[in-house]
Amino acid sequence: MTRRLPSRTALIALLQDTLDSAGAHHATLGLLVLRVRRLLETGRLLGYDAGEALVDAVQTALEDVLREEDGFWRVSDDEFAVVLPGLRNREHVALAAAKLTRTLSQPLRVGEHSVVPLVNIGVATAPDDGGDARTLYRCADQACDDAGTGEERHAFFSAPAHAYDFEPGELADALAASRLQLHLQCVLPLAPIAGQLPRYEALARWQHPRLGAIPPDVFVRVAEQTGQIAEFTRWTLNVGLRQAAEAARGGAPFAISINLAVEALRVPGFTEQVIDLLGFWNVPPARLVLEITESGLMTDVERSGEALMRLREAGIGVAIDDFGTGYASMAYLRSLPANELKIDQSFVRDMLADPRARRLVGSMIDVSHHLGMSVVAEGVEDGATLELLRAMGCDHAQGYHISRPLPAADALRAQAERT
Ligand code: C2E
Ligand code: CA
Ligand code: CA
Repeated sequence: MTRRLPSRTALIALLQDTLDSAGAHHATLGLLVLRVRRLLETGRLLGYDAGEALVDAVQTALEDVLREEDGFWRVSDDEFAVVLPGLRNREHVALAAAKLTRTLSQPLRVGEHSVVPLVNIGVATAPDDGGDARTLYRCADQACDDAGTGEERHAFFSAPAHAYDFEPGELADALAASRLQLHLQCVLPLAPIAGQLPRYEALARWQHPRLGAIPPDVFVRVAEQTGQIAEFTRWTLNVGLRQAAEAARGGAPFAISINLAVEALRVPGFTEQVIDLLGFWNVPPARLVLEITESGLMTDVERSGEALMRLREAGIGVAIDDFGTGYASMAYLRSLPANELKIDQSFVRDMLADPRARRLVGSMIDVSHHLGMSVVAEGVEDGATLELLRAMGCDHAQGYHISRPLPAADALRAQAERT
């Protein structure tokens, strides 16, 4: 029997008690956060029983693998927390995580379907990662997010904040001196139409003099947290549109997708600023697509919805990025002012191996088309996936198999060679 905890707060209280007594014995304590991925979608697609069968499988694996003194709780519909007290060292925590991953990668029978549960596990240990329950939970939670991006289904927390230890002022300086770059990645049409312009997604790059390349999601988050998002967004729009304008002048126009942090939509006068910039660079609005993540949108649907609506009315494209990861239901899509949906890489990456991921991609394509939206599949890393997507009626594909993000000049040259 799993104990169901009413909330994460309840878990944290319980964890703190365990930590307090563990501290007295100078032992290592392991915390695992297990998340069953796509539980909602599985339930929606294969029925409620299928979703619950996945949860049962996790529960059985936990009962089989864990020791008497370990505890586990279901913290929300798709999340479990496991506490491993009194361990000798971190290696013992790793052993438990590896064992769970192995047990959970066996396919399950649910009615006439066979499904492989996709469970990500994030691992943190006390006292190494933190002595208090809240910090420890945050570390395990973040590691769980990271586990979703790799081959392995479990990941140890490794403090990324320390690895990218820069001052917010350094970002401000880099922006002011335009020391950031905007790379371009090809967005390939799968059923090209005559006269259709090539298209690229602009991805920001920052080569820090001391720390090397800092991932954009890291410095974009810092920009959001330190009031620099307006400045940063102006920079991306300006550089992106300038690149598009120069190419058009050179006789090779292209369309460009630019990422927006949800914070940018809250900057007063944002829509007008975008329209002004399009005018300044003489780029037709239909050549610009603004991408906003599903999870960002969900934090403030009403306000961001209004801003996006005005952008759409001005003829600018709006894409929902990382679709499938932000818990917007398919039904929600209808009310969002977007004309494009970008299927998150995690679904695309698993398509060949996992029939469930394939069916999910299929239903996302169908629903979008029903709503008059076009679809981009992200993270296409091999030819077989590309062909499968084409056969499924997906409109565009993006990924390393087609091209990595490249400095603008290289991306345009690669395009010229392709055509
Ligand atoms: P995103 O918008 O989902 O961008 C796609 C990410 O996937 C990029 O990572 C791209 O390099 C990577 N990618 C593309 N194809 C493949 C593939 O086949 N396999 C794999 N494994 N990865 C692929 P990148 O450039 O590190 O950007 C990460 C995130 O940072 C972006 O995710 C976006 O959310 C944010 N970001 C990047 N540039 C900007 C920007 O100018 N403004 C804002 N607001 N956010 C940005
Ligand atoms: Ca994007
Ligand atoms: Ca994306």
